[in-house]
Amino acid sequence: MGMVMIRCPETGDSIPTGITTDREKFQCSAVFFARTYCRICSVTHEWFARDAWVYDAALAKGDAGRWRSSPASAA
Ligand SMILES: [Zn+2]
Repeated sequence: MGMVMIRCPETGDSIPTGITTDREKFQCSAVFFARTYCRICSVTHEWFARDAWVYDAALAKGDAGRWRSSPASAA
């Protein structure tokens, strides 16, 4: 399980959406639309699943980046 993350369009920071899911399930799911309150901007950002990625703490410890195909690739 991992936390679904999005990138704040204002600051570029990664922010957790509060949604936890399996990476495989997330990638297989239909495109969905959601809103997440951003504490940095104090506004609610709207986002699509394609803009989000799953942060898996277990993977991040070891094999970080192999599966990643997210806007964070430049980071
Ligand atoms: Zn924001």
